[in-house]
Amino acid sequence: MQTIKLLVDNSAISEAACDRAYQLTCIQGLRKVPDATLILGSAFHRIAQRTINEDPKTQEAKLQLVQEVCYEYNLSDFDKMLRLSMAFAAGRSRLPPILRRTDLRPYTETKFDVLYKTVERYGLLFEVHLVGTIDYIGYKDSIQLVDYKSFAGKTPSDKAKEYAMKFQLSFYAWMLYRYSREIIHDLINLHAECDAALIQARYAIMPHNLPMPSLYIGNPQQFNKPYFEEVQSIVDNAIEEMIAIHNLGDKLAVRNGMTNDKCKYCAYTNGCLSRNESRELEFFNTFERSPYDPLSFN
Ligand code: SF4
Repeated sequence: MQTIKLLVDNSAISEAACDRAYQLTCIQGLRKVPDATLILGSAFHRIAQRTINEDPKTQEAKLQLVQEVCYEYNLSDFDKMLRLSMAFAAGRSRLPPILRRTDLRPYTETKFDVLYKTVERYGLLFEVHLVGTIDYIGYKDSIQLVDYKSFAGKTPSDKAKEYAMKFQLSFYAWMLYRYSREIIHDLINLHAECDAALIQARYAIMPHNLPMPSLYIGNPQQFNKPYFEEVQSIVDNAIEEMIAIHNLGDKLAVRNGMTNDKCKYCAYTNGCLSRNESRELEFFNTFERSPYDPLSFN
């Protein structure tokens, strides 16, 4: 029996809200050609990760960090990256103490890949893996996770609405609830078991198009067992949907995002709105194609 490795991350789950969006992204592998915004986003993540890990204290160390990131991402606007770096450091100081601890080894950019289940359908064996990258995990008496995002061209509240549709915090928090010991290897020494109420999650978003950027920190999201049961049923339903879309083969999936408000934040809107197959294909061909790799996303 042929085995298909099904990679399920929060983006795949939110794409599955529209069959066509999921098919184009996760099966056909369409990817946006990296533009300046995406590259800046990756550079911002690197600054965040290195600032947390290295905690540069002197002005010289801070400048050096930004210089190295600019070099790594081939960015010429040093002043802009410096402003983002300063705003990030200032924003972090507004986070609760557990998220600023330096005496525990910080968990930054934690990648996970957990075999969730195997499903037999249509003569195929689907090996379902839950995957993702958690930007920051702080833990001691509770488990706190932070997801950093950068953006341009929208207000922080627009970005927050878009972000809420991505299901990211709920998915990561549920993963920590279910698989905390696999994800945080030291945790076994700190907690006998992971309690849903011990987990909190928040996003921190950074506009990178403003002359004076400031880190916008969302309110902490709290959880309980019934909430996580709901998350699990969303994940399970999305997996069933994904498997059904895989079974379509070359047949184009329906555009059901048109009726569930997903199009507003979808990269394929210009193609779908044309309602003309050749124009739609022409638009889709402006994307790069490579196998879907959730672990390469932030
Ligand atoms: S634009 Fe709308 S209908 Fe088209 S793929 Fe995206 S979500 Fe689906």
